Amino acid sequence: MDHCRKRRLNPRFVILCAVLAALTAAVIAVGISKLLGDRALPAEEISVPDYVEKDYLTVNEWSRPGTPLEKIQGVVIHYVGNPGTTAQANRNYFESLSSGTEEVYASSHFVIGLEGEVIQCVPLTEIAYASNSRNDDTVSIEVCHPDETGVFNDAAYDRCVELTAWLCREFRLKPEEDVIRHYDVTGKLCPLYYVEDPAAWESFLADVSEALAAAEEESQSHP
Ligand SMILES: [Zn+2]
Repeated sequence: MDHCRKRRLNPRFVILCAVLAALTAAVIAVGISKLLGDRALPAEEISVPDYVEKDYLTVNEWSRPGTPLEKIQGVVIHYVGNPGTTAQANRNYFESLSSGTEEVYASSHFVIGLEGEVIQCVPLTEIAYASNSRNDDTVSIEVCHPDETGVFNDAAYDRCVELTAWLCREFRLKPEEDVIRHYDVTGKLCPLYYVEDPAAWESFLADVSEALAAAEEESQSHP
């Protein structure tokens, strides 16, 4: 009986089944890689929050090399180290490096100003020159500060929490593990205040976690 049934199978039907099975396997594989791995970039399609003003640097070897940022596995927080300067002034400084006369490599994806304004200098699809060995897998945020202590004022701090939480959500990062200081990469005293006072840094991470949880809860109650 089995023998007869086998002989009646239409070869076209067999081929069709094989093709369907292969397609299903491919769809499942893509789905799993999206679910699991994906801290990698779909950044082309990502639209940044409304409070971010894009003012991209000119592509140049010193501050915007145009190198693809192929994966985002962390966020690195910096302070500008230049008390009282604005986000625009810091963005313009990065732009000025493009002349090459200073022979300084520096930039950042975002600069947060004293009023909580945010300027994006480099697209999320490209690396910035901010975090040394982590340039190739992180997003950088430079924060302006009113004085030499490097403490962030309330407006800049709150915005930094908000933007960092947004990045964590977009790129599936964990604040406690994936949000780091420049200090954690190279030992540089940056962001100064949050290196000198580790409790202040812990408290920043806790605020980011709370903002992230609130955003996730919000999206669940209003899908
Ligand atoms: Zn730094």
